[in-house]
Amino acid sequence: MIVELRVEPQYKDNPEYIKNLIRESIAPDQRIPFFKLVRSSIDSRGKIPIFQLRYEVQFDQDFPIVAPLSQDLPNVVNKQEIHIIGAGPAGYFAALELIKQGLKPIVWERGKDVQERRRDLKAIQQENTVNPDSNYCFGEGGAGTYSDGKLYTRATKRGDIYHILRLLVEHGAQEEILIEAHPHIGSNKLPNIIANIRKTIESHGGQVNFNAKLEDISIKSSKIDGIKINGTIIKTNRIILATGHSARDVYTILHQNKVTLEAKPFALGVRVEHPQSLIDDIQYKSYPRGSLLPAANYSLTCQIGSNGVFSFCMCPGGLIIPAATSPGEIVVNGMSLSRRDSPFANSGVVVTVDPIKLAPFQKYGPMAGVFYQQSVEQAMFNQGAKTQQAPAQRLTDFVQNKLSNSLNDCSYIPGLVSRNLHDILPKDVANSLKLGFVQFGKLMKGYYTEMANVVGVESRTSAPIKIPRDKITFQHVQIEGLYPCAEGAGYAGGIVSAALDGHNIAQAIGQQINAKLV
Ligand SMILES: Cc1cc2nc3c(=O)[nH]c(=O)nc-3n(C[C@H](O)[C@H](O)[C@H](O)COP(=O)(O)OP(=O)(O)OC[C@H]3O[C@@H](n4cnc5c(N)ncnc54)[C@H](O)[C@@H]3O)c2cc1C
Repeated sequence: MIVELRVEPQYKDNPEYIKNLIRESIAPDQRIPFFKLVRSSIDSRGKIPIFQLRYEVQFDQDFPIVAPLSQDLPNVVNKQEIHIIGAGPAGYFAALELIKQGLKPIVWERGKDVQERRRDLKAIQQENTVNPDSNYCFGEGGAGTYSDGKLYTRATKRGDIYHILRLLVEHGAQEEILIEAHPHIGSNKLPNIIANIRKTIESHGGQVNFNAKLEDISIKSSKIDGIKINGTIIKTNRIILATGHSARDVYTILHQNKVTLEAKPFALGVRVEHPQSLIDDIQYKSYPRGSLLPAANYSLTCQIGSNGVFSFCMCPGGLIIPAATSPGEIVVNGMSLSRRDSPFANSGVVVTVDPIKLAPFQKYGPMAGVFYQQSVEQAMFNQGAKTQQAPAQRLTDFVQNKLSNSLNDCSYIPGLVSRNLHDILPKDVANSLKLGFVQFGKLMKGYYTEMANVVGVESRTSAPIKIPRDKITFQHVQIEGLYPCAEGAGYAGGIVSAALDGHNIAQAIGQQINAKLV
């Protein structure tokens, strides 16, 4: 039986209070109930924020302990090998599922393991040095490791999201992610979880190789024939390509090998940062947040002419981080620790970009969006301080198109440099953002304030390219044995959807191979 409750924040963690409410709602049945929280969300539309809690209730016995999903994985050390390029969420969840299917995953990752990777992140933050193979996007766990770790996804029709969340919990994520409507892990917890997933892969006979970069692919008669890793050719007729949306060299490899690619819409804009206390006051209507409520978030969207403007990857209590993958460019993104306790609230605010409109870039064919993104990132660097200091403006000055005399304090460790972002961003994007921010100020009173900074550039929201594949077999439409996977291929946008895509592809490969064996 399901019981839905609405409780004020101070009662949420009071089991006696909850038990009484459950008993009241199931009256006249007077048996002592066993109850389990299965869903929690906050409704902050009214005068005070209310927790909406869903409980599963039963009477005769307590809930059984659920067996771990990974307990029955076979050892695949001598089984058929399947090569996976990229150790992001897609690559690692593909590897777990391949093992379940009785196949041996061999993962090739250009970056370093989570521990080693930390040094390169420090170098970006403190020394302005970007290692093109080890940064916030590249390395074990991919862009997901030092990400914010929000696990909310709209990809509910693509598979069993709960399965992915359970695997994350089995590898160290907090159990709350199975319950919360907007689950969040935090960048401090993700590296251990990723390392634990690697241990599972290796202890069941899979292989993970770091500092191992895909440099080319070999195709014969429209079939995958091999991969070149660090100069060595490896013969194989199947690869899962899960290299993420920032691996521009991988798109070039595919393009040079005449693999069909399609330009797809993406989004580009800025990161905006407010004081968290201001966002809390707006969203909780000055109800004191204290320790009872999480740092408040928001989600805003509007239409400016033919362009959508929307907030993206909102990080309450978070930090803005430098997410460039090459020297000479500036890219910003956001993350937060599990406690979400920084004094800042940031989110990407981006404008949809249709590749058809990118006239000067059309000569690059399907790569148009890649070169467009790169040109803006390089302009941010060259017209900024030529370091990882990011060009920024007060929100009000950005809307009024004037240089800021001073900037607000900011969470971005490399620091900010005052620039008029209208001089650096593409005109269409800057104008849509400007009008969008005015709309957002109307939708959320207090949002439009000089206490906020806008910081450039938020350019890696999604892949500007799709690597088209068959819906059933997941193989590339033209190349047999090439399995374009997750975000870099245009089939995912976030940790969970990427993990799910990796899982689905591995399952399909298992079925294809096992069907042939029968
Ligand atoms: C700072 C930040 C915060 C984010 N916050 C969130 C969030 O809160 N919630 C959310 O859902 N998503 C978030 N994201 C996005 C999320 O991380 C990605 O959607 C997700 O990681 C995509 O998974 P993927 O496996 O498809 O690719 P990726 O995670 O990009 O992994 C690709 C991997 O392939 C490797 N690779 C690339 N080229 C090669 C090559 N030539 N040879 C070998 N290996 C290669 C890369 O090094 C990388 O490890 C965030 C991203 C960033 C950067």
